Amino acid sequence: MIKEMRFRDAALAKRVAEKIRKIAPSKGTVKICHICGTHEWTITHYGIRSLLPESVEVIAGPGCPVCIVPASEIDEAIEMALDGVTVTCFGDLLRVPGSKMSLLDARAEGADVRVVYSVADAIKMARREREKQFVFFAVGFETTAPSTAVEILKGPPENMSFLISHRLIPPAMKALVEMEDLSLNGFIAPGHVSTIIGMKPYEIFPRDYGMPTVVAGFEPLDVLFAIYMILKQIRKGEPRLENEYVRAVLPEGNVRAQRLMRKVFKAEDGRWRGLQIIPESVLTLRDNYKRYDSRQKYDLHVKCGVDIRPGCRCHLVIVGKIKPTECPLFMKACTPHRPVGPCMVSMEGTCRIWAGST
Ligand code: SF4
Repeated sequence: MIKEMRFRDAALAKRVAEKIRKIAPSKGTVKICHICGTHEWTITHYGIRSLLPESVEVIAGPGCPVCIVPASEIDEAIEMALDGVTVTCFGDLLRVPGSKMSLLDARAEGADVRVVYSVADAIKMARREREKQFVFFAVGFETTAPSTAVEILKGPPENMSFLISHRLIPPAMKALVEMEDLSLNGFIAPGHVSTIIGMKPYEIFPRDYGMPTVVAGFEPLDVLFAIYMILKQIRKGEPRLENEYVRAVLPEGNVRAQRLMRKVFKAEDGRWRGLQIIPESVLTLRDNYKRYDSRQKYDLHVKCGVDIRPGCRCHLVIVGKIKPTECPLFMKACTPHRPVGPCMVSMEGTCRIWAGST
């Protein structure tokens, strides 16, 4: 607790902000991208952007795990739920819009859709209610994928299957850096994903793209330090990979979790809402575990969904091309109570975070 409070020390934050102002370029703009809903929450909640000089811009990338689930995958879950299968998921997913409705709408139509706190809870339900068929809608990045892998390796009951929707962060960062109209100058890499994958997957960014990359924690001073470290690299003209979050992230990451993920999943090309297809970015079950795949078990054929509704700008917010306030629907037709796009649903969605601060 005391340690955490040190990372919120206002006097120290002012000193770091002063250093940032001194080192920031006097001409042009440095654009730094983070890829984490929790980073966006910290930056917005603590007013970090207001401490930065005009020449330093921090934008939010696709770091909200439910915002980037394509509508077609929500549609798959809804199709099963309306067919009488019990669909279990994290609470954040309930109101994320599919092509025509959300899982919450499906529940209002009588479908059995249940919120769980973990995949283990879903499996306990399936064991208790053997007469029903259960699906766990497995979303999230490298942080949640290992827990899905663990439960699959334990051998779930016959009446349990998994709608796998896990995605990987480094391929999304590669897609961002290759977007010519985004012109990024540095990455703040997500701390919690990095506790699993370690530092190695980020090496390509400074090496192949000349992109300063700093793994950072989630306290306000973590983020300020990371910005300072990136600016220092830019000033010296020496892009590197650095770890600001040394108190949690090991260079090699969590090797056991990586092994479990590799055993159960393989990476394939796949769609992200707002980002289209990203090579080797979506996890699917390996052949040994295909019997647990809901898509195979229920012969799902949903192909293409409506990712972006008329007027919604989530495809631009998700990659940081616009701020939520630049969407004409923000806090008018689209509010946390009546979200139009996925970015307004989850507490990790950029629009939802900004809505909390308006
Ligand atoms: S305000 Fe709503 S409609 Fe606009 S981009 Fe955000 S989530 Fe999408």
